[in-house]
Amino acid sequence: MDLSYIINELGEERERYFNAVAPPIIQSSNFANRTVAEMRHKMQHEAEEYLYSRGNNPTVTILEKKLAALEGAEDAIAFGSGMGAVAAAVLSQVKAGDHIICINHPYSWAKTLMRKFLPRFGVNLTMVAGDDIENFEVAIRPNTTLIYLESPTSFTFELQDLAAVAALAKQHGCSTIIDNSFASPLHQNPIEYGIDLVVHSCTKYIGGHSDVMGGVVCGSRENIYKIFKGEYMTLGAVMSPHDAWLFIRGLRTLPVRMERVAASTRKVVEYLARHPKVEQVLFPFLPAHPQYELAQRQMRNNSGQFSLLLRADKLAQADRFCDSLQHFLMAASWGGHESLVFPISATYASEEMKSDLPFNLVRFYIGLEDPDYLIRDLEQALAKM
Ligand SMILES: *Cc1c(COP(=O)(O)O)cnc(C)c1O
Repeated sequence: MDLSYIINELGEERERYFNAVAPPIIQSSNFANRTVAEMRHKMQHEAEEYLYSRGNNPTVTILEKKLAALEGAEDAIAFGSGMGAVAAAVLSQVKAGDHIICINHPYSWAKTLMRKFLPRFGVNLTMVAGDDIENFEVAIRPNTTLIYLESPTSFTFELQDLAAVAALAKQHGCSTIIDNSFASPLHQNPIEYGIDLVVHSCTKYIGGHSDVMGGVVCGSRENIYKIFKGEYMTLGAVMSPHDAWLFIRGLRTLPVRMERVAASTRKVVEYLARHPKVEQVLFPFLPAHPQYELAQRQMRNNSGQFSLLLRADKLAQADRFCDSLQHFLMAASWGGHESLVFPISATYASEEMKSDLPFNLVRFYIGLEDPDYLIRDLEQALAKM
């Protein structure tokens, strides 16, 4: 399916709403029935019908169709946040007594879910370094039902060989989930490699303007139906019609934004990789990176995130560098128009959130600004460090 068709036409029925170019926001929680027979039918087939907006809503459906197509999935289901999607996807694949394998350094709340929350329900976790398939092989137990991936990972941007992990999981009857937020649905499609469920925080690239929260799970019709009947209707973390409309608007410009972000990021990374105050740039698209070949094979392009290991002996130096940046906003998240910096040492504030990564690691997100404007800012801040 053409990308342009998915983004501009798929799922839209303009003749039903005055040929409006932008779809209507069907801001309704409820849908009426003309007869008992109709109501009975809709209650039997709620996954395909409009009965009540905790199930389906027409504006949300347009977005779900587009996101499923972008991931090459049969179906998709949208949530009120990325974590709503991660939690539903994970819960759909486990029961008491099961075991999960998860890569090191996933998104922090995904880790909290699997390490602290699920053990309360008798589901246990092993975390492994994801860069070697042998680590997964060794960790598999008879009760392992799920392998949870994130490639590239948060903060360190390590990759997993998706085809190899998917093949191993199939051999052992485990399912696989990947958080694909960092690559965006344009730069990596894990279902191609045999991964079962693909999750995105739509809050990031898909929204693209730092003004709306949402998530999505993409997968087979069977898996999405199971999530709809189970976690979706029961836990109720649904996306609002207005938010779905904002995400559809975000999708219209996703290809141009991703192209710009990718090119600017390469330019900024090339500058930083040569800077004497930078010990290392964590970015798998640098030829010197040990996973460069895998990145080329598995992903269509880089996106806008990377981390720096600064040549700093003291936390105060790293802090001074970050505090001196004038055009990078200091914040969590990423994927909007604005460039961001996130010093890992900010997580040292509490035992609960503390990362095991070193104080000289600083994560960047490159937005839509002129890359030379950003490089000048980095230059003056590195000089002050
Ligand atoms: C932000 C993020 C999430 C969580 O998404 P929310 O929309 O904030 O709930 C999950 N995974 C990754 C990789 C993220 O960056």
